[in-house]
Amino acid sequence: MQLIQNISDELILYGIKPSYHRIKIYEYIVNNNIHPTVDTIFKTLSNEIPTLSKTTVYNTLKLFEEQKLIKSVNIEENEIRYDARKNIHGHFKCERCGKIYDFDYNYNDLKYKGLEHFIFNKTDIMIKGICKLCASEN
Ligand SMILES: [Zn+2]
Ligand SMILES: [Zn+2]
Repeated sequence: MQLIQNISDELILYGIKPSYHRIKIYEYIVNNNIHPTVDTIFKTLSNEIPTLSKTTVYNTLKLFEEQKLIKSVNIEENEIRYDARKNIHGHFKCERCGKIYDFDYNYNDLKYKGLEHFIFNKTDIMIKGICKLCASEN
């Protein structure tokens, strides 16, 4: 119950009316730091909430993103994932197990050549490779 209270407080803070569906969707993203897709969120939550539709999930995520509560991450071109972690971080996708890892980097240390005086609205740093766990299984 305590957690639900915090979740709904956070929604209000971001200008979102905390309906039951919105609370459940945001709670899922916060508690499952796996960068879920619309499908993952819908499949998991619809077991628990039979009244939930995929359109509701889709529209809720769109609203969350507009209000800057969550960020969308394009890891594969045809697949949008959602992230509740608000600080700047990069993503590493393991091409073997498919897991997505967050990593921190110092934004101020990045050097850009050729983008002087440009304004950045969104920065996504994405690395693909083989994670430590998979690499050790060789
Ligand atoms: Zn892996
Ligand atoms: Zn992330």
